[in-house]
Amino acid sequence: MAVATLPADELRDLYKSLILAHAREPRNYGPMAAATHEARGLNRLCGDRLHIYLSLDGDRLSDARFDGTGCAISMASASLLTEAVQGMPKDEALEFGRALIARLNGDGDIDSGALGDLRALEGVREFPSRVKCATLAWQTLFAAFESGDDVATTE
Ligand code: ZN
Repeated sequence: MAVATLPADELRDLYKSLILAHAREPRNYGPMAAATHEARGLNRLCGDRLHIYLSLDGDRLSDARFDGTGCAISMASASLLTEAVQGMPKDEALEFGRALIARLNGDGDIDSGALGDLRALEGVREFPSRVKCATLAWQTLFAAFESGDDVATTE
């Protein structure tokens, strides 16, 4: 059955289980020895701490990994990020991240179909304090490209 044909409450449950699945068994978890870009992120409100590792091959992301500790949403968001950006050109990953953050803050115009599994995070829009948990991984990805050793925060 296509996801789009499910009623809204079933969709919500599906996305909740997707978030829990990623939080329990994060994809691409653990440090990367040969990262070309990396940064740490901290969400003080919740205590989420992430370390994002990226490997750029030319202008394309050939690998993305993370580790850290935090709530289910922050862990799932980082896990989803590492899957979403594999093989993406750097500029596309940055644009995608900005569009997703705008969407989670309620003012984005990205089509939710373009988000793929990251639609699972849209539920946080109902809980403003959780938006920072969901966006931390992306803020950390931006920081990895911008500087290197700075700690990204959601403040
Ligand atoms: Zn959190």
